[in-house]
Amino acid sequence: MSVLHLRGHIELADGVFCSEAWLVDEVLTVSRPERRPDRVLDGWVVPGLVDVHCHIGLVATGASTEQVAVEQAITNRDSGVLLIRDAGSPLDTRWLQQRRDLPHLIRSGTHIARPKRYLRNFGVDLEDVNQLPDEVRKQARRGDGWVKLVADWIDRSDGAAADLKPLWPNEVLAEAVAVAHEEGARVTAHAFATESIDGLLDAGIDCIEHGTGLTAQQISRVVSQDVAVTPTLLQVGQFASIAEQAAAKYPQYAARMRRMFDDRYAQVRRLHAAGVQLLVGTDAGGTIEHGLIAQECAELVRAGVPTAEVLRAATWQTRRYLGVPDIHPGDRPGLVVYAADPRSDIKVLQRPRAVVLGGRITPCTRLAGPSLRAVPCPEPVRTSAPLRSETVRPHLTM
Ligand SMILES: [Zn+2]
Repeated sequence: MSVLHLRGHIELADGVFCSEAWLVDEVLTVSRPERRPDRVLDGWVVPGLVDVHCHIGLVATGASTEQVAVEQAITNRDSGVLLIRDAGSPLDTRWLQQRRDLPHLIRSGTHIARPKRYLRNFGVDLEDVNQLPDEVRKQARRGDGWVKLVADWIDRSDGAAADLKPLWPNEVLAEAVAVAHEEGARVTAHAFATESIDGLLDAGIDCIEHGTGLTAQQISRVVSQDVAVTPTLLQVGQFASIAEQAAAKYPQYAARMRRMFDDRYAQVRRLHAAGVQLLVGTDAGGTIEHGLIAQECAELVRAGVPTAEVLRAATWQTRRYLGVPDIHPGDRPGLVVYAADPRSDIKVLQRPRAVVLGGRITPCTRLAGPSLRAVPCPEPVRTSAPLRSETVRPHLTM
């Protein structure tokens, strides 16, 4: 029998917390076990963080190897992310879901795009836009309740006048989203531009990624239609360099990307002020490193979203949004232990004291670069001091 004692602040659901809990043979309990704990962890404990826009099995050139996909998943796990909505991957990663030592993965199948209208080798490229509904059906059946569309991208065929443009006619989009809903899947769309949004909203889209082009009017439609938005500030933070590279050949596009870069924090403030449900997504894979959830959270705080709300979006709230139940006693939970309350300083998220997956403390190996390189992680607190013997009064209200 193994007993891990958690002490401090253990918040299993939003506002539902206790000051002590135990993992007895990996199972969570709030009743003090008879056996002395093998290990005590002090800290501020929350469910594993949620990254809703992460690509496992994707690298800059397209699909990764299976080994790299595992490394990406481990990097996320070690950063405290234990629940991932994969926002599209060219690699079939269903096999990863069998691994109990890796984060829980909710897959969206493969991104759906058009030839030359998205990053090469990332998605399924449809020659004919009318194939979209059938492809959505296929991806909905391959995925875990989500489908990912690319709604707009630069259209280089316009030469020097090239700019972001929608990929799909509105009526095709409407049919495609209806097909996904029929299949029981939700649809999220990559959308940088303003022009793609109304068609997506008319179609009944469920979620918008990036959302840099949303106008005030579109933001109020997003709120009334209950559409969540993932601002992906780390990704939008790259728009200035994208603009710079494109400026000579595609000045119009470059100017727009630069404007959206300059406006990125103000845009998040507008979304937040309007009451849009914001999600935390790093957009890792392809161009952004894995394991940067703390940095994405810090960017949202920098934009002006209150720290407590960012933490909620990175944990309890988005878990529910994805349909994952709250953690209860009796579960083999995924938890992250921090030294302090991340609401006092979001930077606390950068250094998990321990990551518990399936009720067990994970071996903490941080990955750096393309190959595995173990670096020491902050040591969990061990104590051999006698335990306080006062009666435990868990204030769990679940
Ligand atoms: Zn992405």
